[in-house]
Amino acid sequence: MPKTTSRYLNFIAGKWVESRTGKWSEDRNPADDGDVLGEVPRSDAGDVDAAVKAAQKAFKSWRLVPAPKRGEIMGRAAAILRERKEEMSKLLTREMGKVLEEGRGDVQESIDTAVYALGAGTRLMGETVPSELPDKFAMTVRAPLGVCGLISPWNFPTAIPSWKLFPALTCGNTVVFKPASDTPIVATEMVKILEEAGVPGGVVNLVHGGGGEVGMGIVNHPGVALISFTGSSEVGRAIAESCGKNLKRCSLELGGKNGSIVMDDADLDLAVDGSIWGAFGTTGQRCTATSRIIVHEKVKAEYLSRMLDRVKKLKLGPGLDETVKVGPLVNAGRVKEVHGWVEKGLASGAKLLCGGKPATNGVLKKGWYYEPTIFDNVKAGDVLAQEEIFGPVLSVITVRSFDEAIDALNNSRYGLSASIYTRDVNRAFRAMRDVETGILYVNSSTIGAENHLPFGGMKDTGNGHREGGWTAYDIYSETRTVYVDYSGKLQRAQIDNRKVDG
Ligand code: NAD
Repeated sequence: MPKTTSRYLNFIAGKWVESRTGKWSEDRNPADDGDVLGEVPRSDAGDVDAAVKAAQKAFKSWRLVPAPKRGEIMGRAAAILRERKEEMSKLLTREMGKVLEEGRGDVQESIDTAVYALGAGTRLMGETVPSELPDKFAMTVRAPLGVCGLISPWNFPTAIPSWKLFPALTCGNTVVFKPASDTPIVATEMVKILEEAGVPGGVVNLVHGGGGEVGMGIVNHPGVALISFTGSSEVGRAIAESCGKNLKRCSLELGGKNGSIVMDDADLDLAVDGSIWGAFGTTGQRCTATSRIIVHEKVKAEYLSRMLDRVKKLKLGPGLDETVKVGPLVNAGRVKEVHGWVEKGLASGAKLLCGGKPATNGVLKKGWYYEPTIFDNVKAGDVLAQEEIFGPVLSVITVRSFDEAIDALNNSRYGLSASIYTRDVNRAFRAMRDVETGILYVNSSTIGAENHLPFGGMKDTGNGHREGGWTAYDIYSETRTVYVDYSGKLQRAQIDNRKVDG
């Protein structure tokens, strides 16, 4: 009997449907290339158009559902996610590769984001402001935008979609969601949960497929009012260009090249713990991963010796094995790309301290593994310190002072996350003032964002929006200013109450 493969569908106008292309893509486990999780449709612009039309239609009634009621649906989604946390986490690890402990963290973040949305539904506040004229009332109210196009990457298969879906829906928008092609199945399960939680048909639409066909199809569709995109700066720039031409709001969360400063007064054990977690957690595939260590020359030798000791003991393997600390990269292409950067680093004169090649021993042969890699003798302007490698590669830059450390940290086109290890409160506050990033950790790793605080970056990392917390709700709502004149006569602002100059 031929093996049957599960098929996961698009979700359009409240129905689970195949793509009109009739084409399918396989979804494989990065820890075991022989393990096919299922097939998903390879959709096209026609499927996108059907989804946008369904979302436009559903918007007419969804926007009128009271926001606290919309929030309650998100609360039900939180409860279902919590019930299925273990099942979802295991699926996520099998599909994306991150170790199970982190898979659980990913799902927990989506639960937390849904719980936040439950409360946010009752707090979609505007402001009241005194009018300059008598018998006149002034206030702002929030209004949804319409259809939002949500495009997500593969590295946080539930957390990042949830950062977009829950606030967009709570604000009264309808959505067309395109998950990354490497993690379509967990995304499908998220949408099923929203359906079960009571989101009406057409409010959430899911279209699987590639970035060019489906992603750009959503971006360019005139019926889409807003694009929320998380992914590479390269694609983000192309999306911004298209949205700019069409005066479409777009919120971009893009690449990072995050650095940790380790000063001469740092708690070195703490710095080593944070560096290992920051650089090799999620196999370096976090937008906030630590990829540069900027260390003071006085403590560098000791720091590196402790680091190497620890890195050599990191166990690589499939994320579902709970003794494993570092899982695979997400696909074969990523292994090639990471190795390409390592070769460029070697050519630039950096000194390889450990790793530097794909890991293929025993069970690792089945998947896409790369050895945790550390380079020394990297200069702040070198290729290794400038390019987002998005893998388990850490570059060490040596400095002689705090000022030099801040200059090295800021010598990047990206500006997502940074950290500083120091016991000197004055240095910590100067770092808070001087770093050019959207997130700063003092005495902690560059990773560890909490869902209820703003998340995003400066420079090429984004375009000024912040997901997470209350700021996400600003992305997904328009401010409408409302004046109510109860004087019963025409009152002209700037004129009638300015009979005398000033
Ligand atoms: P990517 O840019 O290749 O893809 C992201 C998404 O965009 C995917 O769904 C993809 O299919 C789609 N896409 C690709 N080309 C497109 C196009 N031309 N038009 C529209 N959509 C398109 O990124 P990735 O490899 O999935 O993710 C890794 C990148 O994401 C890294 O650069 C990482 O730093 C970044 N990232 C940033 C954050 C953040 O919040 N700043 C978080 C996670 C990941």
